[in-house]
Amino acid sequence: MNMHQNIRKDLIRTTINCNANCLFCNFAKENETDFMNPSDGDLYAMIDVLADQHVSHLVFSGGEPLVRENIFKFIKYAANKGIKKLEMQTNGLLLDKSTLGLLKKSSLNRLFISLHTNNKYIRTVI
Ligand code: SF4
Repeated sequence: MNMHQNIRKDLIRTTINCNANCLFCNFAKENETDFMNPSDGDLYAMIDVLADQHVSHLVFSGGEPLVRENIFKFIKYAANKGIKKLEMQTNGLLLDKSTLGLLKKSSLNRLFISLHTNNKYIRTVI
């Protein structure tokens, strides 16, 4: 695959997979042909490219990055490459005690949790 297609400035789509199926989300459906799940090697290569460009803020996104196996090893790799500000965008569904512990120990500086509504009814619909 072309590794540059998954880079958005300082954002890496670590996977197109997601553990949610929001009605309004057409990311995976519409982009299947444009975005493939990057291999481990692809992700390391993307981080290398961004580190070489002296990116200071890197966002790990998806799909849902927490369904990506070994996501924490990529965060550690980016930190070891000198990228200072590391962020993850997540839907929060997998944020149990164990995952929160791993996040706390990781080099992440920021966790962006998407809350699509505070309305119980709408939450069940979307
Ligand atoms: S959580 Fe995000 S990526 Fe997953 S289905 Fe919903 S909008 Fe799409």
